[in-house]
Amino acid sequence: MTPRAPDTPAARTAALLAIEDEVVHCRACPRLVAWREQVATEKRAAYRDETYWGRPVPGFGDPDAHLVVVGLAPAAHGANRTGRMFTGDRSGDFLYAALHRQGYANQPDSRARDDGLELGGAWITAPVRCAPPANRPTPQERDRCQGYLERELEVLPWRVAVVLGQFGLHALAGVLGVTPRPRFGHGVEVALPDGRVLLCSYHVSQQNTFTGRLTPEMFDEVLVRARELGEGRATPRVAAS
Ligand code: SF4
Repeated sequence: MTPRAPDTPAARTAALLAIEDEVVHCRACPRLVAWREQVATEKRAAYRDETYWGRPVPGFGDPDAHLVVVGLAPAAHGANRTGRMFTGDRSGDFLYAALHRQGYANQPDSRARDDGLELGGAWITAPVRCAPPANRPTPQERDRCQGYLERELEVLPWRVAVVLGQFGLHALAGVLGVTPRPRFGHGVEVALPDGRVLLCSYHVSQQNTFTGRLTPEMFDEVLVRARELGEGRATPRVAAS
């Protein structure tokens, strides 16, 4: 049974900080520890004067979030460099610009942990916290890491999870015990028995946004829908079977 979420903002903040402290010190996956640290040492030429984060990346956002955005894993030269989810790369440029347009972020840019970005009503996270080679964690690495996501979701008062891509959907379905495993499709809504909703979107990767598979307009529609659902102004279009 899912434990009741802490019922004050201070309690939620404290619980999330405790999770963050565990996450950033985790070394449970030898392959990913080696990769994240190798990337942080070798660096991309454009960032050679920067000190890479090179550690697991914690969730980021508002402890009172009704919206949770679930990605895949940190990017080698994005979040693994800056230490904040979706920060310092094109995926983050796309995501945070959209969050700003829809009133979830106080600025459209996410460049560094100390850049002043604050989210209101949203929390950004992922089932895997270390940058994986070729953006592909193994099933064992996913399973080992997803306890952190599970605990965040127990703490946050979320109502809607925007899931970026099939990997995130299946990982989240596993964490939440959703069976049968939902089929991914952009715009698909999965209603959970407790009234919460999983809302699928194509991932905000360059591969999708540069090709037009996912446009800013399409993602704005997802976030508008997420706010409607999260604020209880709409009911999901598809019920879980
Ligand atoms: S992927 Fe998760 S479980 Fe594995 S080392 Fe990183 S933080 Fe720890």
